[in-house]
Amino acid sequence: MERASERWPAWQPKRIDVRISPDALVDEAREDRYHRQTLIDWWDQKRVGSTRILVIGAGALGNEILKLLALIGSGFTLVYDPDKIERSNLSRSVLFRQSDEGSLKADVAVREMRDINPDVRAHAINDNVIVRAGLGVFQWADVVIGAVDNREARVFINSACARTGKSWVDGAIEGLSGVVRVFSPSQGACYECTMNATDRKLLAERRSCALLARDAALRGHVPTSAVAASIIGAMEVEEAIKVVHGQPTLTGQGLHLDGLHSEVSRVSYPRRADCPGHENLGAIIPLGVGVADVTLGVLLERAEAALGPGAALDLSRDVITTLTCPSCGHATPGRAVLGTVRESQAACPKCATHRVVEITSSISRDSGIDLRQTPADLGLPPFDIIVARQGMERQEAWLFDGDAGSVLGPLAASYSGYSGKQASPT
Ligand SMILES: [Zn+2]
Ligand SMILES: [Zn+2]
Repeated sequence: MERASERWPAWQPKRIDVRISPDALVDEAREDRYHRQTLIDWWDQKRVGSTRILVIGAGALGNEILKLLALIGSGFTLVYDPDKIERSNLSRSVLFRQSDEGSLKADVAVREMRDINPDVRAHAINDNVIVRAGLGVFQWADVVIGAVDNREARVFINSACARTGKSWVDGAIEGLSGVVRVFSPSQGACYECTMNATDRKLLAERRSCALLARDAALRGHVPTSAVAASIIGAMEVEEAIKVVHGQPTLTGQGLHLDGLHSEVSRVSYPRRADCPGHENLGAIIPLGVGVADVTLGVLLERAEAALGPGAALDLSRDVITTLTCPSCGHATPGRAVLGTVRESQAACPKCATHRVVEITSSISRDSGIDLRQTPADLGLPPFDIIVARQGMERQEAWLFDGDAGSVLGPLAASYSGYSGKQASPT
């Protein structure tokens, strides 16, 4: 650390105020580090240093985003990415070295963030956000930054943010070009509003045949460069900082960069009244237990007590309830979120026939599901949210906050509701 005295002219003795506590000296050192950005009149370093940011994706865009969050001294960063570092990532990923090949992207990115700035508290979850992120991580975040390369992930992030009332920043790159967009839960267009009829049809078709896990490697490789990733990733961080400070953002709009022709344009998207992406859960009630700690039966009883008989439980995503063989009738419980079962697992273990999959996103007394199971048994991720519903009008959203500590890891202290694992409500 640079000693303050080294910056003073030699004839000016350094004054030491004995009333300054060691903590204050540390704060002073931090103030030095962030001095230039705090000269921006609305910049609040204390706020930046306590902001909770969920970053989805640690690829080319994610690297640029995480690098900048480390530089500005962003407080708490949770990073999701299931993939490993490949040789082809090295040309676009400032945080990865050749020796990191084969290591997990999120792990390495978090390690390098701490190396850039030891103030930064970051945690990696080496998993796919669509199937393994409980909605609690969206509720935890102050703002969400998307650094993903596919429509399904964007639709999931969009819906999770709408449900938990969070703004999110989306970025996309192709060639020398890219786009940055900001979506707010209550204002302007959401991501789904920006999709045209063809996009929506393609998405519906994908959803209807989403039984099998898609191998990321089989997705088309989009031409991109480190330059486009750097520009778009940087603009995403700038939008996120403005969201946190309540400054003007690109809410409901897209900033398009045409890198080849050096043109930038701004597009406003209309908010569609019939868009399915606007569901908001309202107040979210912590249950004090985790997804593996309580049975569906106990949850249904609680739902009936709160909302009356006939109440049902809406899950955060579709789950496979059973895999049934049309040939020999052999049936096994699914215990998995839709989209996670691989082709090889779809074959009947008795006769190898391709099995039929039954899915549900709602649990009630007459849905034929074994109510002695827990939400975790159905394949739902920890720190998830479940909605108790009576008809279309009455609902309560419940958070499995008992998982907060295990999911947030070193960031758990940033979760205001977290008070350790509590006993099951039986
Ligand atoms: Zn919408
Ligand atoms: Zn069979």
